Amino acid sequence: ATMPEDVVEKTLKKLDQDKVEFLQMQFTDIVGNVKSLTVPKNRFENALTEGVVFDGSSVAGYAQIEESDMRAIPNLDSYTLLPDEFGKSRVVRFVCNVYSPDGSRFPGDPRYVLEKLLEKVHKEGNEFFVGPEFEFFLFKRDANGNPTTEPSDYGGYFDNTPLDSASDIRQQIVRELYELGYQPEAAHHEVAYGQQEIDLRYAPALKMADRIVMLKSIIKNVAERNGLYASFMPKPINGVNGSGMHIHQSIMSFDEKVNRFYDKNAKYGLSDYAMHYLGGILSHINEGSAILASTVNSYKRLIPGYEAPVYISWANKNRSALIRIPAGEGTRKRMELRCPDPAGNPYLQFAVILGMGLDGIEKKIDPPEPIEKDIFHMTKEERLQEGITSMPESLGEALHHLRNSKLMRDILGDHVYENFLTVKQREWDQFRSYVGEWEIKKYLPTL
Ligand code: GLU
Ligand code: MG
Ligand code: MG
Repeated sequence: ATMPEDVVEKTLKKLDQDKVEFLQMQFTDIVGNVKSLTVPKNRFENALTEGVVFDGSSVAGYAQIEESDMRAIPNLDSYTLLPDEFGKSRVVRFVCNVYSPDGSRFPGDPRYVLEKLLEKVHKEGNEFFVGPEFEFFLFKRDANGNPTTEPSDYGGYFDNTPLDSASDIRQQIVRELYELGYQPEAAHHEVAYGQQEIDLRYAPALKMADRIVMLKSIIKNVAERNGLYASFMPKPINGVNGSGMHIHQSIMSFDEKVNRFYDKNAKYGLSDYAMHYLGGILSHINEGSAILASTVNSYKRLIPGYEAPVYISWANKNRSALIRIPAGEGTRKRMELRCPDPAGNPYLQFAVILGMGLDGIEKKIDPPEPIEKDIFHMTKEERLQEGITSMPESLGEALHHLRNSKLMRDILGDHVYENFLTVKQREWDQFRSYVGEWEIKKYLPTL
């Protein structure tokens, strides 16, 4: 992985012109935490050519002690001068690829997992495009500065009243996204108090995963500057809508002229290719669930009554479905998957979505008929009659499906697959063995 000298030269010049003081070398662990190393000016050249060395044994799901000397090498085309408001210094962020001590790409790097999967679509002259609807909460901090679950404002869906003090913060976030060239499409207040949504225009999946990582730190930073706390917890408050990250997706030619999902003569305007992709996702969703909704808390969001999906179905209009086909023809024809949440690792989430779809295409898996009725108002018997089953009800159940999935092992590779299971099983075991407030209240008075 040696960098061509002239590219390094050019980048160094640009860093000088931009008066950059620090580099932020960024990558993610397998559960989605952003890791970043700061490089001072005197080490710029070294960092650009050789990357930075770090201890992989301290990164969740990365490496054993014996092979802990990992290297993060920057993608020079990910050069991002952070907006002035971001920090007090001039900082450029690079998205890095992670390498093993022997110099090969590290199989546990989530970015690499997605890259490998994308090769399959790229080989056929296509690109996988995704557009996220990113939801999150803004909470107040207490007197000591610690986050609370008290909402920042008392606005509701699309509200823009004096109640909605959050609109100013959303605008600050959107301004920074715009400066970075991310093409924010819309920003609005969501249903719950303090809940916000930011939508980005669709982009190739790898680029979008990089952007989501950046989006998360922008949101956290802007909230902090305003004395608030931004949370990506899927269900932070009981009895109130949670936060999802719906993913709109399509497979198109590189020039975005031919949408492989669209066939104007077909039923629903969906090509055979799209129908099989859809069939793949629906038939594998249980196996992929632990990656798409990856925390204990995620499954408290996936319950009836809060606009989050529960049942495995698709529809053209109905928003209670897991997959919805939003209105739109031609290049606008796309699928919206509603179970992912903002707490996950976007590289792995996109890899798993694409992998399930491609398996459907390869095996020509036909999806069931769409369900246009509101499934939340169907009885259990009606659902059974229509053959509608449910998503996993807990992280434990999702991990069980993941553990039995050959497809997921293929998509994630042995390293990520096994380490993800280990890390998440530990999380689930901690939760399931913890005696909480609910049980004491429920059982102590009578038992
Ligand atoms: N907040 C809802 C969820 O958990 C989605 C609301 C919407 O349709 O935008 O997925
Ligand atoms: Mg929304
Ligand atoms: Mg949506």
